[in-house]
Amino acid sequence: MNIIFMGPPGAGKGTQAERIIEEFHIPHISTGDAFRLAMKQETPLGVEAKKFVDQGLLVPDEITIGIVRDRLAQDDCTKGFLLDGFPRTISQAEALDEIAAGLNRKIDHVINLSVDRDLLLARLTGRRICKSCGATYHVLFNPPAVDQVCDKCSGELYQRSDDNEEKVGNRLDEYINKTAPLLDYYRNQGILREVNGEQEIDTVTAQISSLLRGQAE
Ligand SMILES: [Zn+2]
Repeated sequence: MNIIFMGPPGAGKGTQAERIIEEFHIPHISTGDAFRLAMKQETPLGVEAKKFVDQGLLVPDEITIGIVRDRLAQDDCTKGFLLDGFPRTISQAEALDEIAAGLNRKIDHVINLSVDRDLLLARLTGRRICKSCGATYHVLFNPPAVDQVCDKCSGELYQRSDDNEEKVGNRLDEYINKTAPLLDYYRNQGILREVNGEQEIDTVTAQISSLLRGQAE
């Protein structure tokens, strides 16, 4: 079972990925982890990548692709894998198809967790922090008893500038614009599975699980 997970920030991708790897006994491969491992093990590509990372430069595509290739060739991936954070572009997706073909495999499912933009915005901008004690709240998921007031110390709550609607909205739009062609790419291959990420966490997991087991709808 070779799976790619996609979804915007705030869609709950990380939580769902953790549940699915447990159920299907496959490794969760994020590009960040694959990079850290390659650098730690000082593989030839890890050494190359580190030069860029140390200078604060973007790692070139061929190195990123090579690191993913090395990672997917490892023993723990023989039963499959769940890729997260890769591919991000069409050229990476094409490279991934080649990598899979080289391992006599193919990508079976691309799970896209979709959540309405306004709801994502509400989830991602809802964090509030106490000015006095630093306690954190969320207006939707963990609201204080009294609006704008800390439960613990009665301090005033504020919103970090990174969490404001404009910045978060820009981040979301960038994600949506960048990944739209990628979704088309997998839709055309007939392996894109859309899952409504606005549902209860357990419901989302159950739907992904049944899609992967081929008992869809
Ligand atoms: Zn407080």
